[in-house]
Amino acid sequence: MIKLTTMVLMISELHEKPIAYWRGKERFEDSIIECLTIIFRTSGCSWNRCLMCGYRHERSPFGESKDSKERHLLSQLAWVLDRYKNDNYQMVKIFTSGSFFDPEEIPPSVLEKVALEFQGKLIIAETRPEFIIEDTITYFVKTIDNGTWKTPLYCAIGLETSDDKIRDKSIKKGFLFSDFVDACARTRSCGAGIKAYLLMKPLFLTEREAINDMKSSIKDVLSYTDLISMNPCTVQSKTDLEYYWKQGAYRPPYLWSILEVLRKIPVPITCDSIGGGKKRGAHNCGKCDPVIVSGIHDYSLSADRELIASLFEMECSCKEEWNYVIDQEMPFCMPLTR
Ligand code: SF4
Ligand SMILES: [Zn+2]
Repeated sequence: MIKLTTMVLMISELHEKPIAYWRGKERFEDSIIECLTIIFRTSGCSWNRCLMCGYRHERSPFGESKDSKERHLLSQLAWVLDRYKNDNYQMVKIFTSGSFFDPEEIPPSVLEKVALEFQGKLIIAETRPEFIIEDTITYFVKTIDNGTWKTPLYCAIGLETSDDKIRDKSIKKGFLFSDFVDACARTRSCGAGIKAYLLMKPLFLTEREAINDMKSSIKDVLSYTDLISMNPCTVQSKTDLEYYWKQGAYRPPYLWSILEVLRKIPVPITCDSIGGGKKRGAHNCGKCDPVIVSGIHDYSLSADRELIASLFEMECSCKEEWNYVIDQEMPFCMPLTR
């Protein structure tokens, strides 16, 4: 998780500012590098249906015309560049209200401007797989590449899980694992790398099913990806997930479950535990949360697996509760057919 004390985070209501932007640190290969993260407010996600997603509501009201989109996006870019022009950062992580490479959200002229402004940086940009089009990605890679990085662009895909049924029924993501695999091949053919975002404990899974799903998803994506990030599910407002959560039909994952995944997987990954320790995010009993959340953040930078092992060995009365949940919680299935 990104520590608020070590970054500048500004949430904005005005169109000329992005939804959010902040400075932080990221682990890349064996180093810790400085990173600028930007969430652009766009005309919105073309899919717009995922059950846990609140970003899709962050649509800009600045009209559908190409000129208007362009003007507002360029002013958001200028806003960020102006604030960080003297900062020394190597990585830029880009998110939008949907997909960075969707031409309806980010017109080609804006894509070009972003590429030129961040030439020489290592860019990680989130997109749905259907927007990974060879011409676009090749052009973007060529424009940002000045020889600093072997792979200057990573396309980040919110695969969430390698299980097609869970992605369909518990997330409504609208694409298959095979679509992700095809998109990985297209990405690589353009000289870019792949980052996969995986969602820990989507709707309708028991705690045990969520742990198993995450372990098998990590195993399944290993051969396709360069970077993996596990995102513990948080309850965002105005989502279907929030509707179920308010009725007591959903609990975000225990921090114990996250430690259980991190200590068992074959490679170190990063874990952005946004909202960790809060009732809408991954949490335990409240007493042991701060030390675990901070430890998971440290692990994401250091990849220190001994830290995870020692956190998991910690004593707290809620560990017994978690063990009970793992053992006794029963699935209440959604029907597979109508
Ligand atoms: S999670 Fe991504 S694809 Fe799904 S609705 Fe949100 S922005 Fe769109
Ligand atoms: Zn506890």
